Amino acid sequence: MSILNFEKLGKVISIPDSARTILEKPEMEITMRLDLFLGDKMLCTDVYVVYYSTARGPAKGGIRFAPDVTLERTSVFAELMTYKTALVGIPFGGGKSCVRIDPKKYKRFELNDIVKEYVHIMSREINPKVYIPAPDVGTGPREMMVIYGETHIPESVTGKPVSVGGISGRKEATGRGVATTAELAVETFMGQYLKNSRIAVQGFGKVGSQVALFLQESGAKIVAASDTSGGIFSPEGFNVEELVKHKESKKSLQEYPAERISGDELLTLDVDVLVLAALENAITVKNANDIKAKLIIEGANNPITKEADELLEKNNKIVIPDILASSGGVIASYVEWHQGKSGSLTEKEETYSTIDKLINDTFYNILDFAKGKGLNYRDASLAVAVQKVITSMEDRGWI
Ligand code: NAD
Repeated sequence: MSILNFEKLGKVISIPDSARTILEKPEMEITMRLDLFLGDKMLCTDVYVVYYSTARGPAKGGIRFAPDVTLERTSVFAELMTYKTALVGIPFGGGKSCVRIDPKKYKRFELNDIVKEYVHIMSREINPKVYIPAPDVGTGPREMMVIYGETHIPESVTGKPVSVGGISGRKEATGRGVATTAELAVETFMGQYLKNSRIAVQGFGKVGSQVALFLQESGAKIVAASDTSGGIFSPEGFNVEELVKHKESKKSLQEYPAERISGDELLTLDVDVLVLAALENAITVKNANDIKAKLIIEGANNPITKEADELLEKNNKIVIPDILASSGGVIASYVEWHQGKSGSLTEKEETYSTIDKLINDTFYNILDFAKGKGLNYRDASLAVAVQKVITSMEDRGWI
């Protein structure tokens, strides 16, 4: 049920039996039906909601709209969120909700109705004291705005458009955090600056496109990018703004005039850094031994399987885990939540500097912890995060 290996973690931090019992399973899992007439078609599907732990605060976590979501996967995302918020030290627990639909099959106003129905059936859940959603795969600022339009509570949802209570810099936030992590990791592990580093980005969506823009701004070369259509390659590096414009015109990357490669080929390119910003299971036992990049940054949630992770470690690859690298989005959500509660206004630079500071501090903390305990960066990040959740449970008198 849990992603944690308690035996392994128990060797580096103290995990009381009571804490283990609590953390082995999510606090709450619900499956709800969403039944709705859209014109003369009826949509009947499932909504999954998981609060893995609320020891550190209300459950925070994105809403995914995708045809292949399950309760089990929702739980994994909620657990990752528990450790992501704990690791960077923001006052939230970990949650997630998923709606089993393919959003590409619906028109804009149909999606609005689906989101309104989601809020209706989630009326006891969407509440700043219980669960605070944000965008994830298949959802974005517009869906968050529809939620706010129903709750009328600014801090009940984050990732809203700037025009309706959102904050400047939220759209770029996850990508900003991934890029900041990549920059720190390239300097630390490769003894070089980002300038002229060769980078491949798997997944050119909300996160991947922003990572690519920030990395290009720091002088790196984005030599490859992919989406569901496949990949494209340019040894000199792409003009990322042009790629973004191309995607905004609803075209796939493979329709861009460049050398085409497959999505699998992108993963095994000989580059300095591989950024994973698509979905789960990008690296599995099938391709782990073919990965040539020295540094792998997890912008996506859970993109490397457990077995593949072990192979990468054997091959001396450095993996910066999702709970650190992709925390920029939830850090910005914290800033937006704070703005919603206080009524203050936030400049883009403030959003960026909060992300940069928390990621910078956490990165060096994890580096020291990993060195002191002889751990890889995923295990070190999880150990530090789990320790923080245990401390909160002790402080609340739960254990
Ligand atoms: P998105 O839907 O905007 O983008 C996903 C991109 O990945 C799309 O371009 C899609 O074409 C591409 N893709 C899907 N399968 C692929 C494959 N097999 N090969 C190559 N490309 C593929 O979603 P997003 O919001 O950018 O999220 C991406 C990842 O980042 C997810 O794992 C998500 O959970 C995680 N994440 C997102 C946020 C956020 O703020 N949006 C925050 C933290 C983590």
